[in-house]
Amino acid sequence: MIEGSNREGEAPPRLIRGERGWWLLGPGGIARLGDGHLTPARTLRPDVERGLREQGLFTVRPSRSYSLTVLTATACNLGCAYCFQNLDQDGGGTKPPRIASVRLTPGVIAEILTFVGRRQAESGLDGLVLTIFGGEPLMNPRGCRELLDRAARYGLRRAIDLGFAVPRPRVRRPCKACSYRDGRYGAVVNPDGALYSSWTTAGRPEWRVGTARDGYLPRERTDDRWFTCEDTYGRADDTRAAAGFRDRVDAAHLDHLSATGRLRA
Ligand code: SF4
Repeated sequence: MIEGSNREGEAPPRLIRGERGWWLLGPGGIARLGDGHLTPARTLRPDVERGLREQGLFTVRPSRSYSLTVLTATACNLGCAYCFQNLDQDGGGTKPPRIASVRLTPGVIAEILTFVGRRQAESGLDGLVLTIFGGEPLMNPRGCRELLDRAARYGLRRAIDLGFAVPRPRVRRPCKACSYRDGRYGAVVNPDGALYSSWTTAGRPEWRVGTARDGYLPRERTDDRWFTCEDTYGRADDTRAAAGFRDRVDAAHLDHLSATGRLRA
């Protein structure tokens, strides 16, 4: 199945209060609404929802890219207490015990990109979004450069060619690297070629879910090893407060874009 088909449920629309009326953020676009478009319970009136649906606002746009996170070096010259590399606290110093220090090599780069090519073919994707991660990834500059050079053949387009832009507020989408149990749309790879469900468990052999060379372990062996970034960093106790804060920030952002003529909605 290609991303975008039958996946509306994964990107529920957001309705947030703006300076003048409401912003409706759907997976297929943004619309500005007035109070008259809503029911007294502040949900979309059925005819309004139908119209927006016909305009494609609720349609998940297919992504053509595979999301790959590669750790190029599990080492760092700092010792932050919150680092995912720490296996334990060190009692107040700056050298906590850490996951094994490994550097990405040309042989592993070849294995990773062969794996990516297979996954792209299976999922019908022809682009690549690459996140270089660590430790401190630039402790292995040669590995970073070689990975970037060779990934160009797998649909990686450089940010320098595409330009940079601040992303607009949008619907919440699942993380492509860790939210799909079979790694269909993305993967996280350690410098030794081991696959992990997300960067939060990377480098801990007991959490390994496969290797770039051999692919994922059978589902029954990864069932209790599949953690997402949200499992680790999501905080159930502040979900409402966090959502409210995010809505206020996004509404202010949209109001500003609209007021300065940079948003057509
Ligand atoms: S990798 Fe990042 S979080 Fe970890 S010690 Fe280095 S700077 Fe700190």
